[in-house]
Amino acid sequence: MIGEEDARMRILKKITPLPGRTVPLSAALGCFSARNINAGLPLPAFDNSAMDGYAVIASSCSKGGRLRVIGEQPAGPDRKLCVHHGEAVRIFTGAPLPHGANAIVMQEDVTREGSEIRLNVGVEAGDFVRQRGCDLAEGQIILEKGKQIRATTIGLLASQGIAEVTTGGEPTAGVISTGDELVHPGEKIAPGEIYDSNSALLNALLQRCCARAKSVVHCIDNRESLTEAIKRGTKNQVLIISGGVSVGEHDLVKEVLRQFEAEIEIWRVSIKPGKPFLFGNIDQCLIFGLPGNPVSAFVTFLQFVRPAILKMMGATDLDLPKVPASLTVDLTNDSERPHYVRGRLENGRFAPVGRQESHALFGLSQSNALLRVGVGESLKTDQMVDVQIWDW
Ligand code: AMP
Ligand code: MG
Repeated sequence: MIGEEDARMRILKKITPLPGRTVPLSAALGCFSARNINAGLPLPAFDNSAMDGYAVIASSCSKGGRLRVIGEQPAGPDRKLCVHHGEAVRIFTGAPLPHGANAIVMQEDVTREGSEIRLNVGVEAGDFVRQRGCDLAEGQIILEKGKQIRATTIGLLASQGIAEVTTGGEPTAGVISTGDELVHPGEKIAPGEIYDSNSALLNALLQRCCARAKSVVHCIDNRESLTEAIKRGTKNQVLIISGGVSVGEHDLVKEVLRQFEAEIEIWRVSIKPGKPFLFGNIDQCLIFGLPGNPVSAFVTFLQFVRPAILKMMGATDLDLPKVPASLTVDLTNDSERPHYVRGRLENGRFAPVGRQESHALFGLSQSNALLRVGVGESLKTDQMVDVQIWDW
């Protein structure tokens, strides 16, 4: 049995990021940028009006004074109007500032009288003007290599006129759930059988990493069925097998992997839940064997599979985000493995939820954060801890 840090290091050492690919912006959400991108345009790209109103020269304005309206500038092509002392240009939000103007008076602050306006306020230079480059300077870095592309990143890239982006590769993944007791959701169940929830869970977790499972198959606990499933599964770059990696007579995964001359790099990690975790490869295909208990499968996916997939996709931040929280209870870990306690993080407080057992899927479903309690560690109520979050 090896330590979890050691396991993680060994896994990550085996992984080289996949080659980049160019995708349209609309397909880039969740991908990781393959290069640094700098702003080709400042934002705003030109001085423009923040309001519907009148473009003026501030020094020619005084409360109660009058200005002659000499034209109109809507948002869109610059009409190249020029404002002189005593003049104003009718202007709308986002419209380019006419030459000579240095302030905008809101339409609510003037009284329109034919071709003139009367000012009901004083005006200062810069009022309601969005200065060129005040948000973003030309050349400024807007997306770093390895950072995830979020909805707002996509908006920002589009504002630069960028239509496609080079991202890290998307690994192909296969999921195999093993077990004679498993029934596909939607089908009839007999006494002693259970529904296969890991396939759905692992598929969803892959999606959460912005990767996709190409094939999700169930196989029973026999060598032929497993051999066939693994043979097909190794066409992917990543194969995740749940169940059958423990020490029982029906746990055949290791044995069948050996028939494929798999290199088994890791089997059994000091982590609770999740001890029987397995990692290896058959040629180029990385194999992750997760324990069948749903919470164990979940925890080992997040601690070992997720960082591996993110590294393949070109990400630089491989860890789950951590946030500080105060504990609502005392917690002690008397076991011999670090314990990932499932809990709920709310308003800066972390409360363990549900049964802390590896089969307890309902408890897991109520949680949104994990707290790692080290071996022998004793934590007190109200103590500050860092918790890992996956629903953010
Ligand atoms: P195993 O790792 O195969 O020994 O399975 C450990 C426990 O997890 C057993 O109670 C199994 O019934 C359960 N289990 C295994 N695979 C799944 C699955 N795909 N969905 C839900 N529970 C499972
Ligand atoms: Mg089993």
